[in-house]
Amino acid sequence: MPPSIVLLAEPRGFCAGVEMAIKALTWMVRVFEAPVYCYHEIVHNRWVVKAFEDVGVVFVDDIDEVPIGAPVMLSAHGSAPEVVSGAESRAGIVVDAVCPLVTKVHHEVRRMADRGYEIIYVGHEGHDEAVGTVAEAPEAITLVEPETGLSGFTPADPAKVALLAQTTLGVHEWQAVLDDARQSFPSVSTARKSDLCYATTNRQDAVRSLTKEADLILVVGSASSSNTRALVRVAREAGVAAHRIDDASSIDTAWLDAANVVGVTAGASAPDHLVQEVIGRVNPTAGVRLLQITEEGEYFPLPPQLRTLLRVLQLTVEAGFGARHQAEPGPLDRDPEWDATEALAAISR
Ligand code: SF4
Repeated sequence: MPPSIVLLAEPRGFCAGVEMAIKALTWMVRVFEAPVYCYHEIVHNRWVVKAFEDVGVVFVDDIDEVPIGAPVMLSAHGSAPEVVSGAESRAGIVVDAVCPLVTKVHHEVRRMADRGYEIIYVGHEGHDEAVGTVAEAPEAITLVEPETGLSGFTPADPAKVALLAQTTLGVHEWQAVLDDARQSFPSVSTARKSDLCYATTNRQDAVRSLTKEADLILVVGSASSSNTRALVRVAREAGVAAHRIDDASSIDTAWLDAANVVGVTAGASAPDHLVQEVIGRVNPTAGVRLLQITEEGEYFPLPPQLRTLLRVLQLTVEAGFGARHQAEPGPLDRDPEWDATEALAAISR
């Protein structure tokens, strides 16, 4: 017997940072001849990365692999200062698609390090975002995994300790380290609400709502996606069976045999057509019910380097082919009106 109903979490899937990064890379492949280079996966999703590879984007993990003079984009997760300067010294055009919410944490790392604080950074060793953030002030930062917490961290001055975090952690993981830090270092300095971004917390709250009704929760997203893995942990923490799946083909039918109500959600870098395919595969007898906990209206503009480039191109075209009517919007004015799903559809055609 198939499950009776799919509970579909809202919000799920693309966040504003991922939207911006995908649209930015789409512009790069439209403007430049292939290959366009991208430092690290533009976002942590295999399907998205493959879609860009198919149109000539080359993803590199070492900035020295970018040929001199080639166009390069830096990923949404944020890059180390030496990667940014390495890109600027080699590439013809550098567009940094770092999410502004990651940039905020980079600024905070530099600010606290400059003030002589020792920084505890809660994050996942080796994750692109953590690597880029720690590199802002490696001499002042100690990375701690949420699972192991503060054990072994002994500051020179317990009165000058700051606590920062990767934006995509599980809320409960962050809270545990925060409680521990406040106990050990009562004057610890930290963000008023935490560094966990709105998309991370909203998606986790939505999963928590799913756990009240679902027997099984399927989370669409890649293994490399930290916020996707956090969604699975949140569901399991609440005692509900949960699995991360790349797409519909990853579903084990034995999971469905035991479930009547299936919750479905997606990490912040997973395209929605993969979610729709999963629903089709679950094939609930009584259909789909949306479980919306909040609305998201965040919009991040394209990276400044890309905006400048597009403006120059627009002016050049207008000079060559006659000026557009002043009131007519250009591509940058229209950017808030299209989304990453349309961008991916455009390059996949
Ligand atoms: S998950 Fe949060 S920090 Fe990461 S790209 Fe999306 S909005 Fe930015």
